[in-house]
Amino acid sequence: MHHPGNLFVVAAPSGSGKSSLVNALLEVDAGVAPSISHTTRAPRGQEKDGREYFFIDDQAFDAKVAAGDFLEWALVHGNRYGTSRQAIEARMRSGGDVVLEIDWQGALQIQKLFPDAILVFVLPPSWDELRARLLRRGEDAPEVIELRLANAREELAQAQYFDFVIINEIFERALFDLKAIVHAQRLKYIAQKSARTDTFQALGIA
Ligand code: 5GP
Repeated sequence: MHHPGNLFVVAAPSGSGKSSLVNALLEVDAGVAPSISHTTRAPRGQEKDGREYFFIDDQAFDAKVAAGDFLEWALVHGNRYGTSRQAIEARMRSGGDVVLEIDWQGALQIQKLFPDAILVFVLPPSWDELRARLLRRGEDAPEVIELRLANAREELAQAQYFDFVIINEIFERALFDLKAIVHAQRLKYIAQKSARTDTFQALGIA
């Protein structure tokens, strides 16, 4: 029996270290592919179109919404972000795992569409640390940082709807936790039976 790939959804307030964690997972685990979202926000720093995001304007975003190109989309900190339907469905059909790094609103929309999606919420260890990380990152103006912190209060309250919570205090520990979540999904009966059909057959339990 063919097992579709797993869909992991990782959400967190900005500054929780979510991107670093997901990027570290992608580096060590070739079985997981990222989804590149579309956004109306302007590129920051070294960001490249088609790498971190597809950067598009409001009209192009509207057109994609109208065409049903997004599995989900949301307004986050004043900009719109959307997950491309085609890329994800194709990847999951092929049996590969996909990780979406999106906000909580998008995560809950994905959960409705794919009840088997695995939702992971990354928490910062404290408010002080969250503020310090946003300042250290140096990518946003002070008023943007304050907006992100204000939004984070509402965002953190959503963690209760997620399957797993990772507290990103020590990076290596948090990465271990994320890898453990990914690995555990691959050990599920249905996934093992699909990945190791020969073994199951040889054991007579196919
Ligand atoms: P940033 O502007 O810092 O890259 O991202 C801001 C927030 O938007 C982050 O929480 C990020 O995960 C989220 N985000 C990125 N892509 C998507 C998407 O396709 N859909 C949704 N709902 N949120 C997204």
